[in-house]
Amino acid sequence: MSQKVISFHYKLTNTNGDVLDSSEGKEALAFLTGSNQIISGLEKELVEMETGDKKTVTVASDEAYGPKFDDRIADVPREQFPEDVQVGMMFSTDPQGQSIVTVTNVSDDTVTIDANHPLAGEDLTFDVEVTAVREATADEIDHGHAHGEGGVQH
Ligand SMILES: [Zn+2]
Repeated sequence: MSQKVISFHYKLTNTNGDVLDSSEGKEALAFLTGSNQIISGLEKELVEMETGDKKTVTVASDEAYGPKFDDRIADVPREQFPEDVQVGMMFSTDPQGQSIVTVTNVSDDTVTIDANHPLAGEDLTFDVEVTAVREATADEIDHGHAHGEGGVQH
């Protein structure tokens, strides 16, 4: 199947109706199909749409950021953290900054950290509007991402 580059505007809300992210006022986001650049539950819908189409897509957590795993939540001795540690702070646990943990509780002796993706276990709703669809270039397929406006520029 030929790969395409799809550009779209989006507004992401959770089940409470809180807006978590939006492309409003920014460039439309461009992605290369079939390259895991965006969550699978959203890509599945976008590939069926044409330029100008609008849709509200609800993606179950399994097709978004996956379930929340209890074994990724741990209590760590407080002295391993800075004095001013607070709920909501994020720390990376490896030098590359790949794994991020979020502080979810602070007590006198322990700090609870959660290594789940912040959106794990959440059903997500995307209001999307497709602004452009085109064939991917050989370079894009080679790199595994979209180039140009809204994509990777290098
Ligand atoms: Zn590239």
